[in-house]
Amino acid sequence: MAEIFDPKPVEEKGFEIDERIIKLAEKAEENCSAVFAETDRIARLNGEKVLKAFINNKVSAACMTGTTGYGYGDVGRDILDKVYADVFGAEDALVRHTFVSGTHALTCALFGVLRAGDKLVSLTGTPYDTLEEVIGLRGSGNGSLKDFGVQYDQVDLLPDGKPDVGEIFKKVKDAKVAYIQRSRGYSLRPTLTLNGIAEIVKAAKGANPDIVVMVDNCYGEFVESKEPLQFGADLIIGSLIKNPGAGIAETGGYIAGGKKLVEQCAYRLTCVGMGKEVGCTLNQNKLMYQGLFFAPEVVASAVKTAAFTSEIMTLLGFECFPKRDDKRGDIITAVLMKNAENLTAFCQGVQKGSPVDSFVTPEPWDMPGYDSQVIMAAGAFNMGASIELSADAPLREPFAAFVQGGLTYPTGRMGILIALQEMVERHCLRLF
Ligand SMILES: *Cc1c(COP(=O)(O)O)cnc(C)c1O
Repeated sequence: MAEIFDPKPVEEKGFEIDERIIKLAEKAEENCSAVFAETDRIARLNGEKVLKAFINNKVSAACMTGTTGYGYGDVGRDILDKVYADVFGAEDALVRHTFVSGTHALTCALFGVLRAGDKLVSLTGTPYDTLEEVIGLRGSGNGSLKDFGVQYDQVDLLPDGKPDVGEIFKKVKDAKVAYIQRSRGYSLRPTLTLNGIAEIVKAAKGANPDIVVMVDNCYGEFVESKEPLQFGADLIIGSLIKNPGAGIAETGGYIAGGKKLVEQCAYRLTCVGMGKEVGCTLNQNKLMYQGLFFAPEVVASAVKTAAFTSEIMTLLGFECFPKRDDKRGDIITAVLMKNAENLTAFCQGVQKGSPVDSFVTPEPWDMPGYDSQVIMAAGAFNMGASIELSADAPLREPFAAFVQGGLTYPTGRMGILIALQEMVERHCLRLF
């Protein structure tokens, strides 16, 4: 009789990783058991929420095919907007592969809602690097919000990274839009949790009930079991090559929130009057649906990879933000690599542990929109997708590697171990 289970151990030729790293990884993983369990709990809640939105909106086979040309009557597109709106607790949403990036979606929202003479105030300090030129803080200023007569002000975070409620109260009074960045981005400030966002929204709306609170939600989707709109924000914006696309959506972005606000954004993306009713989806619908469907589970893999990274790097003596058990609001882990050599070795090691382009060596370069050289390890199925295991690092003090993603936990974990092995081989790491 044939045996159902093969009793012989499978002869595996695994990766050549230093025994001491393997031991450390086992310890790190053990220490992560509580955070892994919590991550699975959140993934279940989010997964159920997504499934319910698919069912309630009667997603059908017809939704998976796209349109060409003007894209009139694209059911897949229209229903996808509704599914996103339900999942994020919004009245309406605008989910499009024609958003070229998160920055483009954010820009569309800012130009969509703000008018000449209005004031935009950032409540979480200087926004993400690429938005500085959009606002007019850096670069030629040509075509920026400033160029169009939109004023800008900001409230810096307090030294401990908490919002400065007193200053918020003063500065939002005459503002049209209050801007909140949920994730740390390329900075060491703490990521906001939803409770933190709720606190800021309360302060802003307390001083100015008409203010539009816009949240840059990049990297935050599905990390907690709710989203910022459910904590008082009016508009959230994100990228589909990050969390909600799950590494499946090939490009794109979304805006979700109040119906009128979403319409203003759609008028800016396409044309006034046409708004959401045009824009063909080509062959992108199915991938965007599938991405959203997988997103809760993929984000959970990224969060587990993040917790594992914090823990093993901490055990190795590198300072990490956040730490293993800190409540997470995004999928990013900042690891202070101490110097440029460590940073470069780590990032190049992450690339070596990637499923695509593992043989390529990333080098620091002057990336458009950033004000220092950046090294980016991203061996991804979708170019630049940072829900896939990736490490971005501006080559400047304090030499922080911003590590994120991992489509699956086993591959994310191994990618980090391969990076550590690279550091060992380049004498950047001393093991005991
Ligand atoms: C990724 C990101 C953006 C947008 O960046 P793109 O590369 O243009 O998609 C904006 N804000 C934050 C916090 C981000 O992480």
